[in-house]
Amino acid sequence: MKIVVAEKIAGAAMKVLEAIPNTTVITPEQFAIDPAQAVSDADALIVRSAVQADAALIEAARSIRVIGRAGVGVDNIDVEVATRRGIVVMNAPGASAVSVAELTLGMMIAMARHISRADQTTRSGKWDKKNLQGTELSGKTLGIIGLGRIGTETARRAQAFGMKIIGSDPYLSPSRAKELGIELLSTDDLYAQADYISLHLALTHQTAGMINAEAIAKMKPGVRLVNCARGELVEEAAVEAALRSGHMASAALDVYCEEPTHNTALLSAPNLLATPHIGASTKEGQEAVGIQIAKQVRDYLQQGIAQNAVNLPSLSDVEYKQIKPYMALASRLGRFAAQLFASNLAEIDVKFEGEVGAWKTQFIRSAAVAAILQSDSDEPTNIINAQAAAEERGVVVRETRAEPNARVNVIHLRLSGPTGTVECRGTIVHGSSPRLIHLNGIDIESHLDGNFVVVANLDAPGVVGSIGTLLGKHDINIARLSLGREGRQALAIVQVDELVSSDVLAELRRVSSVQKVSSVKV
Ligand code: NAD
Repeated sequence: MKIVVAEKIAGAAMKVLEAIPNTTVITPEQFAIDPAQAVSDADALIVRSAVQADAALIEAARSIRVIGRAGVGVDNIDVEVATRRGIVVMNAPGASAVSVAELTLGMMIAMARHISRADQTTRSGKWDKKNLQGTELSGKTLGIIGLGRIGTETARRAQAFGMKIIGSDPYLSPSRAKELGIELLSTDDLYAQADYISLHLALTHQTAGMINAEAIAKMKPGVRLVNCARGELVEEAAVEAALRSGHMASAALDVYCEEPTHNTALLSAPNLLATPHIGASTKEGQEAVGIQIAKQVRDYLQQGIAQNAVNLPSLSDVEYKQIKPYMALASRLGRFAAQLFASNLAEIDVKFEGEVGAWKTQFIRSAAVAAILQSDSDEPTNIINAQAAAEERGVVVRETRAEPNARVNVIHLRLSGPTGTVECRGTIVHGSSPRLIHLNGIDIESHLDGNFVVVANLDAPGVVGSIGTLLGKHDINIARLSLGREGRQALAIVQVDELVSSDVLAELRRVSSVQKVSSVKV
């Protein structure tokens, strides 16, 4: 076998590869001489982030079976081309979770004990002991938003410091939270109770800017914030203002909206602890990433075990063509339902009606589960790792079939948890166009792409008119409008040209007879 290592990885990782019997390992230096030639007869390619495993390089690699990314994001790999070629693309998530969690704890201690200021003043010749009285972490409440790999590692370490851990994560089941000793709360309750707040969630259109002035106002005076996740989760101007007003006692940021950051206003704010995106930058973290990907590539080549694969296994062309639109439908239904589902997810039920039930439904089911659990734009939950992601979160996934002879193929999706349920159905029209045909007990027909406002209301004259007038007043163009009714309960799905702001959503909620308004982007 031949394995091409296109970029430098840890020596220990190279040793893992070199120990595979009958294998030649091509080094980064050999690869650089003629990349296309180096990969032409390779079985595996390992990259970090600089080498572009684009369509041309993948096409040149005629016998390649696996591409390993020593890291998380796979932006430098053309996954679509690799998938169609039946090449497994795998990454190494989680290897740096401990490094990021340790930095988070370090930042909390540094804030509590003014370590950065103490260092600066002592070295400048001052003995500022009286101004450097700190506080203990012990007995304080840490609110963790996002309880995935890094969030849970952080929780474990903070528990060892005697902190009480509260958390917010809509995709973590209550039983798993209990196991971890974490009290699950809404973000508003977490804001109200936490002495420290640490962000460990993915950046999505829903989470971008979530730490804004409104959120900060809900936090306890004297709160301390840590962001070792993604810069765009935080509105930097709002954090700066809160630090200057003293409402926020201190903030520790490893990530910024723009990197390197040039936000001098923020950087000059009092009690800010700033580091240059070093969360994963540890010797052990980088070594762990290299070793993990080397072992995964080895296991795939030797035993066909695809761990942390981010793409599809190959399907025959006929199967692929048949299944592809239903995977897209399942994925869109999943994204739609997940955004309407506000509570802690415990169960996902997928039901297939019609001949689709006789196909390789695990791909379609996994597409739905992946879309529901999708949380990290730079490390997708996909149809290969969807089941494992559900298990990790303690979410039960069930699949059933109904009416195999039905003339129309319908996918039913139900998300449920202790405090709520979202149920929807969809089908394919015109060969490839996904449609929603049922939502929460009401038949309705809606496209499944773009931005939507979903309004549940009591059936009464004038509601639809009021919604239209209100959106018009805010210059929001309605692309499509779908209406449904069952008894006194009515539903409007309004497709709009752009995402509706939270202020407009709040106004819509005040329209007479309106019960619930949600914004959804598919
Ligand atoms: P993960 O996917 O394991 O966990 C993310 C968690 O966030 C999931 O449990 C998900 O359910 C949850 N989540 C999604 N939407 C949420 C919401 N609206 N409210 C609350 N929780 C929500 O990811 P991870 O590996 O733990 O990484 C967490 C973050 O850290 C990511 O943003 C990642 O990009 C970032 N990261 C930063 C560094 C660094 O160098 N500073 C290194 C690695 C990862």
